[in-house]
Amino acid sequence: MHSRIDLVLATDLDGTFLHPDTNGTMPPLYKVIRDNRDKIVLIFVTGRGYESILSLLDDPSFPMPDYIIADVGATVLKRQAETFIPVMPLQNEIAEKWPGREAVLNSVNSIAGLQLQEVPQERRCSFFYGNETALADVKVIAESLDLAILTSAGRYLDFLPAGVSKGHSLTQLLQAEDLPKEKVLVAGDTLNDLSLMQAGYRGVVVSNGEPALKNAIKEQTPAQEIYLAQTEGPCGILEAIHYHGFHTNFDTGDARKQAPQGSADLVIVYHRQPFDEIRQGHRYVREQPKSPNGILPTLLGLFAEGKKGAWVAWSQQDSRDPEGFEVNVAVDKERYPHLVASRVALTADDVNIFYKQFSKEAFWPIIFSFPERVSFVEEHWLHFCEVNRLFAQRTAAVAALGATVWIHDYNLWMTPAYLRDLRPDLKIAFFHHTAFPGADVFNILPWKGQIVASLLKCDYVGFHIPRYVENFIDVVRSNVATQILEKECCAPTYLTYGCALGVDEMPRAIQTPYGVLKVGAHPVGIDNTKIKTIANQSATHKLISSLLEEANGRKIILSVERLDYVKGPIEKMLAYEKFLEKYPEWHDKLIMLNIVTPAAPGMEIYEKTRENLDQVVGRINGRFSRMGWTPVRYFYRSIPFEELVSFYVAADIAWITPLRDGLNLVCKEYISAKAASSTLGVLVLSEFAGAAVELKGAVLTNPYDENSMIQSLLAALRLDAHESAFRMQALIQRVQEYDVQAWGRDFLKFRGV
Ligand code: UDP
Repeated sequence: MHSRIDLVLATDLDGTFLHPDTNGTMPPLYKVIRDNRDKIVLIFVTGRGYESILSLLDDPSFPMPDYIIADVGATVLKRQAETFIPVMPLQNEIAEKWPGREAVLNSVNSIAGLQLQEVPQERRCSFFYGNETALADVKVIAESLDLAILTSAGRYLDFLPAGVSKGHSLTQLLQAEDLPKEKVLVAGDTLNDLSLMQAGYRGVVVSNGEPALKNAIKEQTPAQEIYLAQTEGPCGILEAIHYHGFHTNFDTGDARKQAPQGSADLVIVYHRQPFDEIRQGHRYVREQPKSPNGILPTLLGLFAEGKKGAWVAWSQQDSRDPEGFEVNVAVDKERYPHLVASRVALTADDVNIFYKQFSKEAFWPIIFSFPERVSFVEEHWLHFCEVNRLFAQRTAAVAALGATVWIHDYNLWMTPAYLRDLRPDLKIAFFHHTAFPGADVFNILPWKGQIVASLLKCDYVGFHIPRYVENFIDVVRSNVATQILEKECCAPTYLTYGCALGVDEMPRAIQTPYGVLKVGAHPVGIDNTKIKTIANQSATHKLISSLLEEANGRKIILSVERLDYVKGPIEKMLAYEKFLEKYPEWHDKLIMLNIVTPAAPGMEIYEKTRENLDQVVGRINGRFSRMGWTPVRYFYRSIPFEELVSFYVAADIAWITPLRDGLNLVCKEYISAKAASSTLGVLVLSEFAGAAVELKGAVLTNPYDENSMIQSLLAALRLDAHESAFRMQALIQRVQEYDVQAWGRDFLKFRGV
């Protein structure tokens, strides 16, 4: 084994291996280690407890150690596959010398200025101390318990098992694991590391090291080769690798080489291209997107006035490197002359695994809190990461120095991690178009740590509503040490108490080991102008008349949703069935138009939902229909947006009751169509749709509670015109004030913060 090992790097973490590199790039040392993994044994020798090291290991660019000496020497672990196990019998010998934390706490009661450090730790007890602390008395107590004490930086004090120190545990470990002592380089920065420096190996104190440590080193005999580096942190370690003569084996020449750089000042990274690409034989034809939502036009609008930009998206091709594939294509030469779509070629298999299967089967149920539906396949995760890396590489290639990169949605969760490595200069922002669950659900994901580490490498992370911001911070706190730097009150813009997704304040900035991250809530808006134009077209008027004629004075209840268990289609129909059972006086006085858009082909997970829905709709119509009246009109197809607006205008009630929904645009479109046509209507909205917290004026309902569903529907049917107008006015105000353009502008404000 020895013959293959060129270096055993035993390094302290904070201030040494973890010190931020001087120019903000990923430390070249990490790359050297990554490129020479078979020749370098990496040992972290740290004052941290094991738990607080774990969060570091989720960062894909952070080198994975082979051993960890934690708790200032009191914990000794070795890597085994994905986890770390104690090195036996060494760990046991240390444990036997530790009397337990309570014994220490009971003995130091009378010592002034000792303040317990409440951080993860084992087999040692850490305090802060002050000028008033009588260290001689502490020493006496330690001796009486057969313990050692260690002080550093003039304020940290540790009780440790007798004889235990970083240096001692390192020597024991090298022996136990038969590692070559002559290949060891120890690295540190505080007095905590003195025992490492005195253990007889070659070493380095980085330039930002504590003067007391440097002085102590200078007093050592010259035979002990401790190098005082000129540079800080990991750069100092690299300097020492060269100084001590390890350099001949390591090529660090290209460690600082940057990824190629482009000219786009703003880069949108969205899985969808800003146009529809239709295959015609061997050719692809590009068309205006048919999707009704205003997100694509809004994002495109950011490139108006000749702004230089790029839109990174996938393009489905026969291979990842298809012949004649144009990576960069114009989006619209006239309107956006300096915008290119920069494409990642993916095969049908790639799309199928990364998007249709993995994202929907592993992430979707977690995002919407249906953990019982989750299914995890490790190979699919690796595939997901690979595709995310391709997106990062493409982005790095087109972004100008210091450009803003706006990444969209959970399909690209790992892209920030890879991108940050390639381009530390970029401003990276991420927006979630979905819900975001709390830690107890999110942490079910086997790759939770990696995803959190990736998002923490952004400058800004946005969500629809404050509750999701709060949930995200909850998730971050359960994965890494987090300090809240700024908070914001949510009222009066959002509902706070008493609403399922309400929350009274949310963090706006946090500090984590990855740096400062800003966060915010930006509920997507809609394009009111487009709806107004459609509402005023004669084709719309015609369709509205024919719908009203069909309804023949009956109240129209409209439901519009994608086929998805998350939308609660079955729960809604069951509640409707109960309603008809309970209130026969409403028979023939109302009609429900149930529009369900089929899921994209290949989404097998929705098949069962469809079967159940067909059944329950059939049963309701079978049970309650009369000549001339069918209680449910069921449209299992996608209705063109132009037609949908007519449905909105004609409907007396929009019955939008998802079990979960990131936001829900249908309810906003309904309000907008009501405003455009000056008609009245009532919005019955699930408390679990993100939009519920901003749409004050909706009749809220709990879709998990059949009684609430029935009573809210009844209340909506009985609402008098005055109240209905009053509520609608409040809804219209919000939907018009914060439209999709306002959303785009609001999100990008983070750059000016
Ligand atoms: N939609 C449509 N035709 C249909 C059903 C829905 O054009 O038959 C559109 C609807 O106008 C809305 C979008 O699909 O813009 C659905 O967005 P929402 O946020 O409500 O739900 P999502 O499907 O994104 O979860």
